[in-house]
Amino acid sequence: MTTTFFAPPDYIADGRIVLPDDEARHAVRALRHSVGDEIVVVDGAGGRYRVRLTEADKRGAAGEIVGTERDVGEPTHRLIIGLGVLKNAGRFETFVEKAVELGVTDIVPLVTERTERSILKAKRLDNILIAALKQSGRSRLPTLTNPQPLADRLVEHAEGLRILCHEAADPEPLLPRVLARNPAQDITILVGPEGGFSDSEVADAEVAGWTVASLGPRRLRAETAAIAAASVAMLHKSL
Ligand code: SAH
Repeated sequence: MTTTFFAPPDYIADGRIVLPDDEARHAVRALRHSVGDEIVVVDGAGGRYRVRLTEADKRGAAGEIVGTERDVGEPTHRLIIGLGVLKNAGRFETFVEKAVELGVTDIVPLVTERTERSILKAKRLDNILIAALKQSGRSRLPTLTNPQPLADRLVEHAEGLRILCHEAADPEPLLPRVLARNPAQDITILVGPEGGFSDSEVADAEVAGWTVASLGPRRLRAETAAIAAASVAMLHKSL
């Protein structure tokens, strides 16, 4: 399998790409690429390039673009997943990695009644986003917003289908059924933190026009619920 490298758009100009230092080190020292080799570079903004190296030594790596494709590996519609900021930062990070692999386009950390933290390690999360982007063969980095209050999200007039996942005694309607009633379109799905959504948050969502959906009769951990919901939605009409 060819390794994919990452270079943000400001490293790309006039048909040439300079690899950021850490990517250059990886290419030259670890993978032993040399001048004349062809590598694949994604820019996180939808660009995927075939690049022939013209410089590859301990000072850095750069090359000329010999092929360009747009939006390789990207879904046809937006899939926005909101997940309560988790007390266990590692679990939120697991979700972010899987979300990239599954094709989620927007990740929204939510501050809810029962969230116990509202701060995320931004630099760590950026690194996870980039590593997962390269690994999964996508070309566009999902957006990751700052943590935002659930209430703000609920009243926003987001386009498309708006779903809040909530565990209930009566597991109806199941998420796939809600999706099946609707054509492929932009989808927003919200999942609560470890302690779940409160009754009043669920009621507010219904008043604001959100559909409350179930993921089955078992209580899933928050990040499992978010990953399951993202998987089902992404495979729905192959977004
Ligand atoms: N309130 C529970 C568990 C919360 S699970 C408690 O503390 O006992 C965390 C989040 O995962 C929930 O807010 C919900 O959005 C989602 N979730 C977990 N299991 C689910 C299920 N079976 N159906 C729908 N959503 C679920």
